[in-house]
Amino acid sequence: MINLDILKQAVFESRDGITISDALTPGNPLIFVNPAFERLTGYNAEEALYRNCGYLQNDDREQSEIAVIRQAVAQGEPCLCTLRNYRKDGSLFWNELSISPIYNKHGTVTNFIGIQKDVTSRVLLDQQLRQKNKLLEESTIELAQLATRDGLTGIYNRRFFDTQHAIQWGIAMRNKDTLALFLIDVDYFKQFNDTYGHQAGDVALQSIAESLNKSFVRGSDFVARYGGEEFVILSVGLSVQQATEYTARICERVRQLNIEHPASATGHITISIGFTVSMPAVSAQPSSMIEQADKALYQAKAQGRNQAVGV
Ligand code: GH3
Ligand code: MG
Ligand code: MG
Repeated sequence: MINLDILKQAVFESRDGITISDALTPGNPLIFVNPAFERLTGYNAEEALYRNCGYLQNDDREQSEIAVIRQAVAQGEPCLCTLRNYRKDGSLFWNELSISPIYNKHGTVTNFIGIQKDVTSRVLLDQQLRQKNKLLEESTIELAQLATRDGLTGIYNRRFFDTQHAIQWGIAMRNKDTLALFLIDVDYFKQFNDTYGHQAGDVALQSIAESLNKSFVRGSDFVARYGGEEFVILSVGLSVQQATEYTARICERVRQLNIEHPASATGHITISIGFTVSMPAVSAQPSSMIEQADKALYQAKAQGRNQAVGV
C-alpha cells in the first residue's frame, strides 16, 4: 500500500488543478482544491471552496460542453471536455476538464474528482491552423477559377474549353449522342472599338458573354470565350433542327441587348454563328468540329452576318 503522505504530496505537487466536490450536498460544491488550481484560476482555496465550480464560466454559459458535463454528473459517469473558463482577473483560459465519480460501497456517488488542465495554447494553435486551412482552401478554389475562367468575362476560357470538348466528345461517343458545337463571332467589332473605344468594347463583350451564358440552360451546355470577340458553345443531344432553333434564339438575345453600333446594318451589335452537329466517332477528332464550325461561320459572315449557318 502506498504511503498516504506521498499520495497527499502528489495531489499538492501536481501541475494540473485537482478538485474534489461533494456529490451528496445539493449544488455539488467543491470541498478541496489543490495549489495548482489556485495558480490556474487565480482563486485561492478560501474563495473557491463551497461553491459549484461552474462559477469559472462567468456569464459565458452558451457552451455545448456544459450540457455534456451536466449529463455525466447526473448519471454518475466520467467525462472529458474543454471549456472556456475565466480566471479571477477575468482573463480567459481553455480548461480541459476531466471529471471522475467516486462511489461508496453502496453504489452511491459521494464525490467527483476534477482534473483541470490549461490547454489555451493548444486550442489557439488549433484555431489558427483551422483558419489557415480555410484560407488555403479558398485560395485553391481561386486558383482553380483563375485556371479555368476568362479574366474579362468570367465565363470559361479557351483552355478549359479544350479539355471539356475532349471529355464531352468521349461521353457523346459512348452514349451514341450528338454533340453540337457553335462558334460565335461578334460582327464588325473592330469598328465598334474604333467608334467607342476599347473599354466600351470590353463592356460589350461582357454583356454578350453573360447573355450567351444564360441562353443555354441545360446542365450539359458549356459556354466559353474562345478568343478575342469569339465564343464557343457545346451542347449534347441536340438535333440539327433544335440546334438551328437555338442559334436563332441566341442571335435574337444579342440583338436585344440593344448595344448601339452605327456601322452595323441593324444599328446594333449582332453576332454570326457557325455550327455543326455531329455523332462523335472513333475515326474522327474533336478538332474536326472546330474546322467545320469555322467554315460555317465564314459562310455566315459572307452571307451578310447577323445569322447562323450550320453544316
Ligand atoms: P467581322 O464581322 O468580320 O467579324 O469583323 P470584326 O471587326 O469583328 O473582325 P476582326 O477580326 O477584324 O476584328 C476583331 C476585333 O475584336 C479586333 C479586336 O480589337 C477586337 N477585340 C478582340 N478582343 C478584344 C477584347 O478583349 N476587347 C476589346 N475591346 N476588343 C477586342
Ligand atoms: Mg473574330
Ligand atoms: Mg468579329
